[in-house]
Amino acid sequence: MKPSDQFEQFVLPTYGRFPIVPVRGEGSRLWDDAGKSYLDFCMGIAVCSLGHCHPKVVSAIREQAGNLLHVSNLYQIPQQAELAEEIVTQHVKMPGKVFFSNSGAEANDGLIKSARRFGHKVRQPNGEPRYEVLTFEKSFHGRTLGSMAATGQAKIQEGFDPMLPGFRYLPFNDIEALEEAVRPETVAILLEPVQGEGGVNVATHEFLRAVASLCRERDLLLLFDEVQAGFGRCGDSMAWRMIAPEVKPDGVSWAKGMGGGVPIGAFWLSDRAVGDDGVALSSLMGPGSHGSTYGGNPLVSAAALAVLRELREKELANHAILMEARVRETIRGWELPVVTEVRGSGLLLGVGIDASMVEVPDGKTAALVIVTRAMEKGLLVVPAGAETVRLLPALNVSEQEIDEGLGILKEVLAEVVK
Ligand SMILES: *Cc1c(COP(=O)(O)O)cnc(C)c1O
Repeated sequence: MKPSDQFEQFVLPTYGRFPIVPVRGEGSRLWDDAGKSYLDFCMGIAVCSLGHCHPKVVSAIREQAGNLLHVSNLYQIPQQAELAEEIVTQHVKMPGKVFFSNSGAEANDGLIKSARRFGHKVRQPNGEPRYEVLTFEKSFHGRTLGSMAATGQAKIQEGFDPMLPGFRYLPFNDIEALEEAVRPETVAILLEPVQGEGGVNVATHEFLRAVASLCRERDLLLLFDEVQAGFGRCGDSMAWRMIAPEVKPDGVSWAKGMGGGVPIGAFWLSDRAVGDDGVALSSLMGPGSHGSTYGGNPLVSAAALAVLRELREKELANHAILMEARVRETIRGWELPVVTEVRGSGLLLGVGIDASMVEVPDGKTAALVIVTRAMEKGLLVVPAGAETVRLLPALNVSEQEIDEGLGILKEVLAEVVK
């Protein structure tokens, strides 16, 4: 049976899958079962931050797999402890503590639970707990009941109501709307410093500063979802630092790029003092408050540690900035009217498309037409909404690979214009 037939018969049809069967990867290259090679600027949607099968990640996995795959979080897991230290001291660079999950949605659920705990600690004037988390339109926080409810996109929630209560969606980058929005029950603001799925929208410096100062004024937690944007992707280990380095979040979630391909997510909570008695925020998630059987097991922790060390030692966040400049300069040089703009930060980039200039069959979008044509020509890129083509190369992508990928994209854009 062909994989596509097996999928049809045995796998829930939750994804619209392209008809290619990748079987091998190395660096920025991917090969399918027919031997065709692709330049991969999808990278598992920003997951394989060091490219496919990076030797250091592969050998960390091999070595760990030969020693110990999994033990319960009932016991000490040195790889997990070391990974947490790496994250706190080398990447977040603020005192705090990490919890390990298996995905981005779960990491966000952990942040939401932490916010509710904080709302029990620092309550409404009438003594009731605070619980409401403000999030933003076009955000994406995941598919669990919690993270879906946090996501400000109707299409993600459709048919799954009633939603978990306690969320409200505000327009992104709108400072006025924000200041009106806080109610007595509001306890936190959760946002992506660079929105990924929602079309690659970067928070403005003024907006992040306004969010942060509102959080301080009203004693709200400032929570960043860096599941897609974090760990070098946007040009700094932490995406918010690219925009407003002076801002200090209370919690941050990650997944995707931190594991280089193994399923791992995490969230960090600050040690900042909260409440009348000044306990550490991170202490509110005490024994029994949260858990995950697999979270941070020896295998995934060893892999993620190899990824984060390589990112840091090779200064790949800086490399992402250099490659971003190359992409922007090249695309500007094309002077193609079908390209409306390039948005994003580092190597989380969205190429805006003027959809009115593209021949789009019914049921498709301009972005999908371009992504499909690029795939046929050996370049993998990803849609972000209907009118944005997302580029997510490995953070160690070479100049030559950037030039080759953009060369294919340019050809495609020339072909799809009416
Ligand atoms: C992908 C993504 C998620 C969800 O992560 P999963 O690992 O798919 O659960 C959450 N937030 C953002 C910003 C994402 O890009």
